[in-house]
Amino acid sequence: MAVLSAKLASSAALALILVAASLCLIEAKQSGIGIEIGSRGRPRQREFDYFNLALQWPGTYCQRTRYCCPNNACCRGSNSPAVFTIHGLWPDYNDGSWPACCTKKSFDEKEISTLLDPLEKYWPSLSCGKPSSCRGGKGSFWGHEWEKHGTCSAPVTGDEYNYFLTTLNVYFKYNVTKVLNEAGYVPSNTEKYPLGGIVSAIQNAFHATPKLVCRNGAVEELHLCFYKDFKPRDCVGGSSSSSDMLFSSSSCPNYISLPAYASLGAGNVESEVSWVPEDVL
Ligand code: 5GP
Ligand code: 5GP
Repeated sequence: MAVLSAKLASSAALALILVAASLCLIEAKQSGIGIEIGSRGRPRQREFDYFNLALQWPGTYCQRTRYCCPNNACCRGSNSPAVFTIHGLWPDYNDGSWPACCTKKSFDEKEISTLLDPLEKYWPSLSCGKPSSCRGGKGSFWGHEWEKHGTCSAPVTGDEYNYFLTTLNVYFKYNVTKVLNEAGYVPSNTEKYPLGGIVSAIQNAFHATPKLVCRNGAVEELHLCFYKDFKPRDCVGGSSSSSDMLFSSSSCPNYISLPAYASLGAGNVESEVSWVPEDVL
């Protein structure tokens, strides 16, 4: 009887650990989550395989702007960004899944106070939305990226300051906007460009295949992938053959646009853009 209740107790404990693990990993993509049991018997996420530098294209993203607030770079008028800006540096697994919210280290903007100028310029929020932090509260875009992705990059990028600094450095070294402009892919509200041409321009420059994400036929995100030593590599789903690449970029049609930033409200006929205080949304 005693043996049976000990067994029941240990199965219940195991079940509790598994439930806790699944709650902690609620943000992580469900396929192939790399859970390991740590030395104290606690579940932890396996170290990632490679980095994904996710960039966003303001010309597309800002078309969706409904609200303006001081932190939304879509609302900077003629000073709004005209280059790919940073969404985040994301650690990924080779099977297409990724870890998320790996430690309890919460975001502290003071730690990155010396980086604020380049961050505001090249890693701005393009929305007034306050994303949720790993533990349920609402915070800044930078806080969200650090807690969700930066804490999982820590085995390579270290603390919060180094996560942001490393991301800026990689972003400056691999200047996608410059590569595309030099290949003739300039922002335009009338031109459509061949997806294969855009992919080839990046392959030629960085010797690796990016991943593109489109919305209504316009580039919204471009992902560049790196080994853990920051040498470029193909993104998962990317391939060196351009026909496979076209297939893998399934959210993009064969001809895509790279919209120029349009003043807010243009194209948003049904809704006016309104200014709101920072904490309303
Ligand atoms: P969406 O559903 O808009 O593609 O992605 C929502 C969020 O899921 C992203 O902002 C990001 O935090 C996460 N996510 C989407 N795709 C990836 C990916 O390939 N790698 C990682 N690490 N996170 C991703
Ligand atoms: P991810 O998709 O990276 O997990 O989460 C992005 C979250 O941050 C969303 O809740 C979104 O509303 C908010 N957010 C704030 N600024 C931005 C931005 O510039 N781009 C994106 N993709 N999301 C932003």
